[in-house]
Amino acid sequence: MTSVPNITLNNGVEIPQLGFGVYQVPPAETKDAVLTAFEVGYRHIDTAQMYRNEQGVGEALAASGLARDDVFITSKLNNGYHAHDDALQAFDRTLEKLGIEQIDLFLIHWPLPDIDVDFVETWTALEEIYGSGRARSIGVSNFMAHHLRRLVQETDVVPAVNQIEGHPYLQQEDVRQASAELGVAVEAWSPIAQGQVLDDPAITAVATEVGRTPAQVVLRWHLQRGDIVFPKSVTRARVEENFALFDFELDETQMGQITALERGHRTGPDPDTFNWIPNR
Ligand code: NAD
Repeated sequence: MTSVPNITLNNGVEIPQLGFGVYQVPPAETKDAVLTAFEVGYRHIDTAQMYRNEQGVGEALAASGLARDDVFITSKLNNGYHAHDDALQAFDRTLEKLGIEQIDLFLIHWPLPDIDVDFVETWTALEEIYGSGRARSIGVSNFMAHHLRRLVQETDVVPAVNQIEGHPYLQQEDVRQASAELGVAVEAWSPIAQGQVLDDPAITAVATEVGRTPAQVVLRWHLQRGDIVFPKSVTRARVEENFALFDFELDETQMGQITALERGHRTGPDPDTFNWIPNR
């Protein structure tokens, strides 16, 4: 079976560079989708409290027969639980839903810069969770360079990862560079821009050249840049396609042709102005 390379995080924890994301996978379908991903070979699952499908991920883990140590699981604190005590309680519920005693990575999902709780307070709760050993690593998501710099300046534990929107149309080079300087690994979410980049003529041309699909060349481009990715699909053939990335390479010209597609196009909210809190 294909072996996915690991990336070593700043605390020595290893994370598979390719995983499986479950955003927008309906809760009732999550167990089956994750079991399919396990069958194909994925050993890294990215979920979140906001997705309301942590339980399905936990059920798949239990049903899979895989050893706990062989699967890397990430979840994220929902908006609305940023206050210190709320964050601790929400984390307890995550472990319960996943049916595990220790998570591999727990993230602040969004910085929410203008709500009445500063993300520095939220981070102190994550630091306590990390200190207790119930999370092997902690990190952030959707932090712009200035959020990340302030967090690192004002707190003790440097985040292990920053999970940001990333694909050929939105590369966030400034955030990637700031993360690298601070020793924070970058995870690129919506790595194929939810499908929006797949018809791009530059990408289909590279795909034809290397005899692969557009999704495969875009995912391969991410891996060669060193970022961590977890594409989402509930279609088995695509789940397999998105995993078959380790028997070909893009050359420098092909990498450059994809990098040249940058156009500042977000598929999701702008972290500097996004302060949305869902109903509890
Ligand atoms: P994605 O870029 O992975 O695209 C997924 C969509 O692309 C699928 O719904 C499917 O329609 C299509 N697709 C998948 N594989 C394909 C293939 N081989 N060929 C053609 N079409 C294909 O988008 P995503 O799900 O938004 O992002 C991936 C993961 O990133 C999520 O599941 C989630 O875990 C994470 N994420 C995190 C945040 C965050 O704020 N931290 C936000 C969005 C997503």
